[in-house]
Amino acid sequence: MKVLVVGNGGREHTIVWKLSQSPLVKEIYCAPGNPGIAELAKCVEISVENIEELADFSREMSIDVTIVGPEVPLVLGIADKFKEQGLKVIGPSQGAAQLEGSKSFSKDFMKKYHIPTAMYHEVHSYDEAIEALKEYSFPVVIKADGLAAGKGVLICGNQQEAEKALEDILITKVFGSAGNKVVIEEFLEGIETSVLCFVDGKTIVPMVSSQDHKRIYDGDQGPNTGGMGTYSPNYVYTDEVAKVVERDILQPTLGGIQEENMDYKGILFIGLMITKEGPKVLEYNVRFGDPETQVVLPRLETDLMEIFLAMLEEKLSDIKIVWNNKAVVCVVLASGGYPGDYEKGKAISGLGEVAENTIVFHAGTAIKENKLVTNGGRVLGVTSWAQDIETAKKQAYISVDHIDFEGKTYRKDIAVR
Ligand code: AMP
Repeated sequence: MKVLVVGNGGREHTIVWKLSQSPLVKEIYCAPGNPGIAELAKCVEISVENIEELADFSREMSIDVTIVGPEVPLVLGIADKFKEQGLKVIGPSQGAAQLEGSKSFSKDFMKKYHIPTAMYHEVHSYDEAIEALKEYSFPVVIKADGLAAGKGVLICGNQQEAEKALEDILITKVFGSAGNKVVIEEFLEGIETSVLCFVDGKTIVPMVSSQDHKRIYDGDQGPNTGGMGTYSPNYVYTDEVAKVVERDILQPTLGGIQEENMDYKGILFIGLMITKEGPKVLEYNVRFGDPETQVVLPRLETDLMEIFLAMLEEKLSDIKIVWNNKAVVCVVLASGGYPGDYEKGKAISGLGEVAENTIVFHAGTAIKENKLVTNGGRVLGVTSWAQDIETAKKQAYISVDHIDFEGKTYRKDIAVR
């Protein structure tokens, strides 16, 4: 089969790497891809938002299945466009992608289907927001409604911070039209975990759990990033928690997807807070997480392409999905200054010297004058696997020490907990 993967990050490198192991897959294309992906797939210069051109390419190249990595093309309706043209795609429809594209939509969905989540208010103006704020204690969570590249969630410790956040979003419009609405939310205390699921509209199958590290500095300090590292399994996601999540969250979510007639053949990422009262949903994402995918897919024993094909036929329930017992750790190497301003074009060295059972997934890299250089905030994801987390972590950090570029920034406490 010929497949096309849409995206250019560490997540897409991991998907391509996994598909390259499938006997069902003959050729892999990636749009636009990156230098790491180019070692396994043919990269084509089409942006992830250029849906017309992606569809033209799929038709002209007789691509059998397209897998969409990032959320933006899904929210723009790539799955609908492809289906209109008879092209097979892994990714939910534009309507279903609202579960990620609009915080108020997803909160209303959770409320309607009795899915445990934080108490919330949807507001459309600054005055309305100030009024609603009276019902909350601090800290309070303020969320821009639309997509804001992971920056639209603000945790405010007092009234002054909350007023500033509301002014920034609703009046100054720092997130543009993504801030036309705001969700004010009760702050949940607990331990975060995430669970990715395969969904074919009839069945929802959770993958193994993982834990992201969102903040830039050790000890969960500093501003939020796209994710500085992950590990799997997550110790808080016990069999008992998994059972509660299945009953109270996964099945009602699938029920809601069916009830709302959402066309959902794709990945659903559920961000959870394990609170004293049990697991509650923080957010839905309608695609693989980045960097969660880097630690989840190395544990998948079943052929990923076989799973995708079963999803397209709504036969997910017919296949047995097998995971290994390995522990996997991914340490993200970022550019100096990230998540603020950073420079690009720094030469990367040491990629040939990684430890055993380690793979380096590329995110923000490029080739300039025949040299591999940095080209984004998050540059590489150094991923190691072993029989236990301690060994996996040690291996990952040995490789992190070998790899170098000017300004190399990473957390030293990934998987320490
Ligand atoms: P979201 O994009 O909605 O997942 O929010 C990004 C991050 O903000 C989450 O991963 C949490 O760390 C934090 N967060 C979001 N909502 C809440 C909440 N209600 N209580 C506590 N933390 C939250």
